[in-house]
Order: sequence, then C-alpha cells, then structure tokens
Amino acid sequence: MPTATATANATARVLVVEDEETLLFTLAHNLRREGYTVVTASRGDDALRLAREQLPDLIVLDVMLPGVDGMQVCRLLRRDTEVPIIMLTALGGEGDRVAGLDAGADDYMAKPFGIRELMARIRALLRRGSRADPELGPTLVISGDLEVDRERREVRRGGHVLRMKPKEFELLLFFVQHPARVFSREQILDEVWGYDFYGGPRTVDVHVRWLRQKIEADPAVPTRLRTVRGSGYLFEG
Ligand code: CA
Repeated sequence: MPTATATANATARVLVVEDEETLLFTLAHNLRREGYTVVTASRGDDALRLAREQLPDLIVLDVMLPGVDGMQVCRLLRRDTEVPIIMLTALGGEGDRVAGLDAGADDYMAKPFGIRELMARIRALLRRGSRADPELGPTLVISGDLEVDRERREVRRGGHVLRMKPKEFELLLFFVQHPARVFSREQILDEVWGYDFYGGPRTVDVHVRWLRQKIEADPAVPTRLRTVRGSGYLFEG
C-alpha cells in the first residue's frame, strides 16, 4: 500500500515509485532525512493516482514496475504535468536513456547509483523548477511569431501558448537569447543542463527534435533552429 508521511521541515514533496522494497525504503529514508515530504508507491497505477492526488514537486520513477511500467507512467504524467521526473533503471543502455527522455523524463540514473548523487540531482531539479533568474536577460524575448516569456515560463506562437516540458523551455530560452551563434552539443549540454546531467550529446538532439515540432513551420526542413553539420545548432532568430 502507498503511504504518505510528512516531516516537520518539509520543503518539497517527492513521490518515489519503486517496487524493490529495500531500495524504496532507502530512498524514502534519505529523502526524509533531507527534509522532504515523501510519498511512496510500488506500482505504476498507484503512482499515477498519487501524482494526481498529492501533486508532488518531483517524482523519482523506476522503469521496471508492476501494473503500468515506468516509461508509460512518465508518458501519461506528461499529458498534464511538467513535474520534474528522474527515471531509475537497471538496464543503463543509451537506448533506455533516450527512451526515458522521449517519454518526458528530465533526468536519468542507471542502477546501481550513489544515493548522494541522486540527492544532488533532486536538489538541482527542484532548484531549476523554482528559480527565477533576474540576471538572465529580458523577461520577454520576441522572435518572429514566437514569444518566449521567461518569467511566466511560457512560449506563445502566433498568440497561442505552446505546451513545453521544462527542459524544452530552457533550451528554447537559451537559443532565443543567443541568436545567430553556433553552439556545439557539448556547449548546449553545459549551458542548459549544467554539470549535474549525464546523458550524452543525443540528449540535445532529442530535445531539438521536440522543439522543432513546436516552433518550425516544417519540422523536417527547419529554418529557425538549424543544424550546422559537424558543429552543432544555430538559432536564426
Ligand atoms: Ca523495479
């Protein structure tokens, strides 16, 4: 049965979804020690229900789960929430990482992982979710029919709001703030994801593909967010 436990100095609510009892206990214990409110589930269907009922600030989600598997849980969650999601998997291959990101996860950890590293990534994701960056340039950047609103974390195209995952938004914001410059995948990872992500250059490609589907007239023939062969990407502005 899922349980919910609050701590006195809780700052954020974390939903942990893991069917290995020992790992679930360890994760919950460490998160509570850090002051988080922890909600746990050991099945995918319970996770979906708890995510709706408890509105967590972050979800740690195992891939291999009874009920509904973690990839599917992630995809279903992404239909109506941008809550940061860290996926856990025992498989660890590049294919899984990409599948996890495609499903809408923000970060990814292959088992076995260090609990301290997981805690650092959770802190980083929560910080990113809540931070306001007054030093990062104008609040509203307009580029053609695109409006990128940094304060509201909203993108409008022709007046319509586009649904964006947090990382897609940050990537687009980075591009519109640095138009007409070529950035390598490594530079983009560094600038947009920061030190605390591992995943490799494919991560950038996946997100660029998503962005193009939203901001290009023809995503197959991008004119805004261009690939510079052998170098990286360039935003025309
Ligand atoms: Ca599992």
